[in-house]
Amino acid sequence: MSIYDELGVRPIINASATLTRLGGSVMAPEVVDAMQEASRHFVDLDLLQRRVGERLAELTHNEAAYVSCGAAAGLVLATAACVAGANPAAIAQLPDTTGLKNEVIIHKSHRNGYDHAVRQVGVKLVEIGSALSTAAWELEAAINEKTAAIFWFQGGMTGRGDLPLSKVIEIANLHNVPVVVDGAAQVPPTENLWKWTQMGVALAIFSGGKDLHGPQSSGLVVGRKDLIEAMRVNGNPNQGIGRPMKVGKEEMVGLLKAVELYLQIDQEARASQDDETVAGWCIELNKLSGVQAERSFPNEAGQPLPRALVRIDASKAGQARDDVVAALLNGAPAIAVSNAGEDGIYLNPMTLADGEEEIVLRRLQEILG
Ligand SMILES: *Cc1c(COP(=O)(O)O)cnc(C)c1O
Repeated sequence: MSIYDELGVRPIINASATLTRLGGSVMAPEVVDAMQEASRHFVDLDLLQRRVGERLAELTHNEAAYVSCGAAAGLVLATAACVAGANPAAIAQLPDTTGLKNEVIIHKSHRNGYDHAVRQVGVKLVEIGSALSTAAWELEAAINEKTAAIFWFQGGMTGRGDLPLSKVIEIANLHNVPVVVDGAAQVPPTENLWKWTQMGVALAIFSGGKDLHGPQSSGLVVGRKDLIEAMRVNGNPNQGIGRPMKVGKEEMVGLLKAVELYLQIDQEARASQDDETVAGWCIELNKLSGVQAERSFPNEAGQPLPRALVRIDASKAGQARDDVVAALLNGAPAIAVSNAGEDGIYLNPMTLADGEEEIVLRRLQEILG
């Protein structure tokens, strides 16, 4: 009997995405082994964070790196670093930002649930632009002596009318303001781990528990040495705003192993394997009455990986989309998919283990056949 059976929690086949509410991703045995090894001894946590950070920086061609307990915690600590630096008095004062640089500039189009992590440091978000367009002068006009940082959220929220990131960096540099990129779900492509910082971004933040396949409660922050150092001082085990966002020795070591493994992945081969899966699904699903399946690219986070978009015409298929989604989730095995518009579902091969693509197809054939 598995631990999940014992607890009355059904394991779910994830054909949706690297969603935190489904557990993010599944760690490789090597990652679990590294964590288990780390769990057997006491260490100086601060020293471990430094050593792991040095290794992660080297691996990702960055000046410095830090392991946070998730990308959202990385956002908190990056904000704290930009506001308080490594100054003990300022660190002790947070989230009261009186007298400190306490404005963070953000594209209006980038506002999303994760900006709460930035706001919890006590800063004011200063929005620039509109959902449709943003001009360089708007960024220029928003920068003043109170500006702590410019945050850039990369993903589904990044709008077409946004300033190009290169332009944001250029203007930020003129005023000595750090640019922080939230790229939590932005690998692949793997080179994002160094591309943005090489462009001049001060800090780039990634989730360790999404496609990096590290511990669910880990995040990777790469970038400028002084800011990474400031994050460290603001973070656990030091007393400060980051103290509740504890990252353990197991997570630090696990993320390092996960990144080592990730850098060895042939992303092109992986993408073409996913393409084959999607093509196979489409051929079979298009044989079903009232079902229309096609390749969709890129995925919801903008990653260069394909999904299948499956439209269900309820009048011909005899079942509405919501019934199909419910049947998948409540069936055996349980399968999670994403909704697409009013009548569609996305099938994502990215989070499937080998062979699960067959199970997903078979279940859909049973439900819709
Ligand atoms: C998932 C996500 C986060 C949070 O990452 P965690 O590692 O779960 O904390 C932050 N920002 C964006 C854009 C995300 O997609």
